[in-house]
Amino acid sequence: MIDMHMHTSRCGHATGTPREYLDAAAAAGISTLCFTDHLPLPVDTPHALEYAMPAEQFPEYVRDIRALAADSARFSGPEVLLGVEADWIEGGDAEIRRMTREHSLDMVLGSVHFIDGWAFDDPDLTDRYSDWDIGKLWDRYFSTLADAASSGLFDVMAHPDLVKKFGFLPGEDPARWYEQTAEVLADAGVAYEMNTAGLRKPCAELYPAPGFLRAAARRGVPVTCGSDAHRPDEVGAGMGEAREALLAAGYRSLVVFRGRLPEEVPL
Ligand SMILES: [Zn+2]
Ligand SMILES: [Zn+2]
Repeated sequence: MIDMHMHTSRCGHATGTPREYLDAAAAAGISTLCFTDHLPLPVDTPHALEYAMPAEQFPEYVRDIRALAADSARFSGPEVLLGVEADWIEGGDAEIRRMTREHSLDMVLGSVHFIDGWAFDDPDLTDRYSDWDIGKLWDRYFSTLADAASSGLFDVMAHPDLVKKFGFLPGEDPARWYEQTAEVLADAGVAYEMNTAGLRKPCAELYPAPGFLRAAARRGVPVTCGSDAHRPDEVGAGMGEAREALLAAGYRSLVVFRGRLPEEVPL
């Protein structure tokens, strides 16, 4: 079992040290884990330090995780990979490119967390949903995701239907959004993530939904898998359900990124 998405206390809204995550992963039977703390955000982003690690900590984060990886290897522990979760911000691509090339990373997750500067997945900002027609919000979310996927900045698009997090659903069959997005991912050669955090949120579902998985599987879009743990005891959470859903959609393998190159592992 792999877990390719987790956060540490460095990013301001998670708890636990890298060592505590590694120990939890070993106890949960995870063979490969990837740390993906939030890439520093532009300083003018509201709440930047509650959403992501401060810029000056990025080199230290890289050093810490590489040291932990070497240590785990020495004691035949789980494989530790170094990644980041980078927020797609319109107009911010040059800075994301610069930061993600500054260090040799194993994987860059790309995420859409902001629409017009609104962190729509922040539980403290859900009153803004009432300003939107939900179908229009979904249009906007998936077109932003398509721009991010096509940017060439990311290896994997994280939690690709995050817009459903609080259960605000459009009054129509969402299949068209899933089909369009799967097409964009296939064309861009970008993988996506089966993310189990949705099970722990108001939507109470895996990200993404089964219809999305089927649309992506039909087009051969590679998938990886992560818990999006923000506490050590969430490492590996929901992986049994994730595996069942992927098998049901037709997947037989996952991808792991090392040095930003995908390698297949059996599901
Ligand atoms: Zn987070
Ligand atoms: Zn995220």
